[in-house]
Amino acid sequence: MHENQLYVVATPIGNLADITTRAHQVLEMVDIIAAEDTRHTKRLLNHLGFSKPLMAVHDHNEAHAATSILEKLQAGQNVALVSDAGTPLIADPGFHVTRAVAEAGFDIVPIPGPCAIITGLCAAALPTDRFIFDGFLPPKTSGRQQYFNGIKNEERTVVVYESPHRILASLKDLAAVLGEDKEVVLGRELTKTFETFLRGTVTDIQNRMLADSNQLKGEFVMMIRGAASKKKLEVSQEALDLTLLLSEELPLKKAAALAAKHTGYKKNQLYQLALEARE
Ligand code: SAM
Repeated sequence: MHENQLYVVATPIGNLADITTRAHQVLEMVDIIAAEDTRHTKRLLNHLGFSKPLMAVHDHNEAHAATSILEKLQAGQNVALVSDAGTPLIADPGFHVTRAVAEAGFDIVPIPGPCAIITGLCAAALPTDRFIFDGFLPPKTSGRQQYFNGIKNEERTVVVYESPHRILASLKDLAAVLGEDKEVVLGRELTKTFETFLRGTVTDIQNRMLADSNQLKGEFVMMIRGAASKKKLEVSQEALDLTLLLSEELPLKKAAALAAKHTGYKKNQLYQLALEARE
């Protein structure tokens, strides 16, 4: 371990066994840990079997905390930054600290680990080749509806965080703006005892939550399937069907070229769409 480094350390989002070996080692070796809630981090350290000087870094003191972290680095100390759960800076404090540390020329070393976005996505069974994360949903209906309107044509999977006391109201706004058939996956209590994935249309999910109030408890990641690709609308269904039919006898490239000649559409476009349709 070098001196004067800031380690940004991911910690478990529920299951304490998810701490990585490297995170454990780094937390044990640094001189001080900057934590979102020092009591919370103390419990993690107790579980790991050691103690360490802690300082608080939260939304309300981050600028001031950044200055004291810089002083520690300048004095030759190593500092770890953690949040209450998961990866620091992901809907959590840390941006101002990393900015100040980078500007002062010190190294920032990421120690990767749990993050609710990735944990949810990897088991949601939704497309993950492209996705966006938009933080927490706005707290009020008007803001949420405006937000959902803004993602109407979003083709990528959309991931947001939501709190348990707003989850039903958010699903209602989602159905009102994006339609009752919009496909949604809720990841609840991930890595914990009552981990649940609710998959289906937004109406299915609302009904299941209303039928079982346990489904309203805990922490949620909401994942919303993206809108159907607009590319599909740019060629006729007949042209795509023809390409697919020809591709039963010919290599897809040849089928697309032949269908393009016949229909006037671009062969690359037909090729891409037929490829997606086959998948
Ligand atoms: N930095 C964290 C991360 O890496 O995911 C996120 C911190 S943010 C303040 C807390 C929110 O993350 C929760 O309200 C919830 O939406 C989501 N979250 C955190 N842990 C979760 C879990 N175990 N299951 C589901 N969602 C979780």
